[in-house]
Amino acid sequence: MDAGEHQKAVHRLIAEIERNARDTAHWTGRKTFSERTMAAMANVPRHRFVTPNYEVAAYVNRPQPIGHGQTISQPYIVALMTDLLDLKGHEKILEIGTGSGYQTAVLAEVLNTGHIYSVETLSALARQAQRRLAEMNYTNISVREGDGFDGWSEHAPYDAIIVTAAPERIPKTLIDQLAMGGRMAVPLGRPHDRQSLVVLSKSLSGKVTEDHVLPVAFVPMVCSSSHAKR
Ligand code: SAH
Repeated sequence: MDAGEHQKAVHRLIAEIERNARDTAHWTGRKTFSERTMAAMANVPRHRFVTPNYEVAAYVNRPQPIGHGQTISQPYIVALMTDLLDLKGHEKILEIGTGSGYQTAVLAEVLNTGHIYSVETLSALARQAQRRLAEMNYTNISVREGDGFDGWSEHAPYDAIIVTAAPERIPKTLIDQLAMGGRMAVPLGRPHDRQSLVVLSKSLSGKVTEDHVLPVAFVPMVCSSSHAKR
C-alpha cells in the first residue's frame, strides 16, 4: 500500500465508523464519537497490527486475525469502546487483553498525560505487542503477561478499565481496581452466545451501575479453574 492508497483507506474507514455510529445511536445513545476518539482512529496505522497479508484488509471495518486464534476487533467497536470511556486525556487506564496492541495504541493516542497498563495472557502476543508499541514510540504504555482476572493491582485504582475479551460476569477484582468516578467497558457473556457490551460506572460514593450498550461478539476471557467461580 502506498501513501495515497493508505490515506484513501483511512478516509473510507473513518466514514464507515461515522455511519455505524449513526446507525447504532438508538442502542448507544451517541450519534457521533468525540473528536479525540476519531482523531485517534485516523492516526493509528492499523495495518501494522494485523497478520502479514492482511494489511489491505486492515482498513476494512471488520475484525481481523492477529495469530494464536485471536482477533483484533472491528474498528467501529474499538472506536465505540474508546468513546464510552469518556476520557479527558490524563487518565490511568487498565486494559485486559492486549492482543495485537491496536486498541492500546488507540487509547494511547487519546491520552495526553495518562498511562495505560495492559495485561495479556498469551506470552507470545504480550511480547509482540510490547515490541511493536515500543517501535512505534509509545512511551505511555506498559504491557505485561498475566491473568486479567487479577487485574494489575500495583497501579490500582484506575480511572478507566477496558476489557477486550468476554468474561461471563464482571470480575470483582476489576470492579475493586476501578477508581471512584471511573468507568469500565466490558463485553459480557458466554462464547458463541448472546454477548452484551456493558459500561459499568462507579460513582464518587462507590455506587456501581451497569448499562447494556450493544450486542457484540468477542473471544472469551480465558478462565483458569481457580478463577471459575469469581
Ligand atoms: N484488543 C486487542 C484484541 C483482543 S482479542 C487488539 O486490539 O488487538 C482478546 C485478547 O484477550 C486475546 O489476545 C486473548 O489472548 C486475551 N485474553 C483472553 N483471556 C485473558 C485473560 N484472562 N487475561 C488477559 N488476557 C486475556
